[in-house]
Amino acid sequence: MSHPSKSYDTGLMWFRRDLRAEDNAALYHALKRCRRVWCVFVFDTAILEPLRSRGLTADRRVEFIHESLVDLDEQLRALGRSRGVEGVGLIVRHGAAAQTIPHLAAQLGAQAVFANHDDDPYAKARDAQVRGALAHAGTVLQTFKDHVIFERHEVLTANGRPFTVFTPYKNAWYKALTDDHLSAYPVERYADALAACPPDFPPGVPPLQDLGFARTNLRELKVRTGSRGARALFEDFLSRIERYHLARDYPAVKGPSYLSVHLRFGTISIRTLAGVAYGLHRQGMAGATAWLNELIWRDFYHQILANFPHVGEGKAFKPEYDAIRWERGRHAEALFAAWCAGHTGYPLVDAAMQQLNQTGYMHNRLRMVVASFLTKDLGLDWRWGEQYFADRLIDFDLAANNGGWQWAASSGCDAQPYFRIFNPVKQSEKFDPEGKFIRRYLPALAALPTPALHAPWQASPADLQAAAVVIGRDYPAPIVDHAEARARTLARYAVIKPA
Ligand code: FAD
Repeated sequence: MSHPSKSYDTGLMWFRRDLRAEDNAALYHALKRCRRVWCVFVFDTAILEPLRSRGLTADRRVEFIHESLVDLDEQLRALGRSRGVEGVGLIVRHGAAAQTIPHLAAQLGAQAVFANHDDDPYAKARDAQVRGALAHAGTVLQTFKDHVIFERHEVLTANGRPFTVFTPYKNAWYKALTDDHLSAYPVERYADALAACPPDFPPGVPPLQDLGFARTNLRELKVRTGSRGARALFEDFLSRIERYHLARDYPAVKGPSYLSVHLRFGTISIRTLAGVAYGLHRQGMAGATAWLNELIWRDFYHQILANFPHVGEGKAFKPEYDAIRWERGRHAEALFAAWCAGHTGYPLVDAAMQQLNQTGYMHNRLRMVVASFLTKDLGLDWRWGEQYFADRLIDFDLAANNGGWQWAASSGCDAQPYFRIFNPVKQSEKFDPEGKFIRRYLPALAALPTPALHAPWQASPADLQAAAVVIGRDYPAPIVDHAEARARTLARYAVIKPA
């Protein structure tokens, strides 16, 4: 059968942070433009080896990707079968993507490689390398927007500049939105272009151990993976979205969607999520409006990273904040170790760090609290915290993580003013009023009466005795005095005050 409308005979779809077959921009274009399409995912050693060399060989993200690829492989098989093509499946490789992709494209004789945009600094450099190597062999790399609703230069100020303040960005975002931005790419329509895997290629996804990684507690945590997992989570969230704005700030309550890891790896389409939220927002549902707002924050930080790439290179968004002198030396390192381990003596901070260390997730309110504590109570460089989060968060996303840290450190665009310093005890009283979250993660304190839970060093000797808590033995004394730290921080930040 001839395909006059097809531009290429053979194409290769390269999955990266878009691990789904449904409503996938690059996959749609590949199938539409090519007569035969193979699909590949590369476990990129340029990303994985630095983790392994730092001893992070049990990584929830690697396991999440691994499980999601099994799901993606099944989706592709089913899609092929629905069009009478047998033997379709995901080709999985383990190697340096910058070399593996051009090599595979040559092996398959692919005339074009299709992928979705990724504006992380590493991804941009890798894609430029791949584009060059492919061009050398006469193959094109075609890339598409898929990960966000608006990207790069799509939403600009009246002067044609990128927005650096959220609220006007959000207003312009709404103004620019059309039905097209929310509609799904009908991948199924061209699925008959999916090609069977070459018979000499190893089928399926290799075991995690072959990649040099061990299993984590992902299954024990009941983290749902793949597109199937994402859909189940979204359905569950839709039964709660109406109350999102009321519940989202309380870490002991099931308030947020927990979809961040799925958004990170693209196991669900942002168009699906934003489309549903937008529909409910138009009906006047306050919870949906608040949630859509968060999805717009996500777009906002992605365009910040794309337009101000220095933030992804360890620099403050506002350069004058790079003049701040953070604590250094052995004492600073000890404070940092206590923060990482959840041994600061401030229960909400410590419970939050336990949540991160035990599950790879941390509630948004707590990310703000611990980031503020690191920078403004301990006087430590926000980049230390950013790196710790980058290593541990299952939903780690450079744009959102950097945005969050620079917001807390006041060095970011539209950031918290430097003189607004969270009081960790007040945050605890306000957002964990019954101490449920603290009790869940700090069982040593569970028997204390609730008012004493937020600042146990101030508890009465009788309360401490009744709860069998000895400060310094069962739970640390505070490593810093908040009032003194506040004064030190105001002095530290004085370097950036206008003259
Ligand atoms: P929901 O409340 O259900 O929100 C829905 C989605 O909106 C999230 O999944 C996320 O994709 C997006 N979103 C929500 N809040 C923000 C925000 N402030 N900025 C950008 N996008 C947002 N988010 C990440 O996805 N990866 C990170 O590495 C990350 N690091 C952070 C670091 C700090 C210091 C701070 C303060 C925030 C960080 N966030 C990060 C943003 C936010 O905390 C998480 O997106 C959220 O907690 C994820 O939980 P959820 O999916 O249940 O969120």
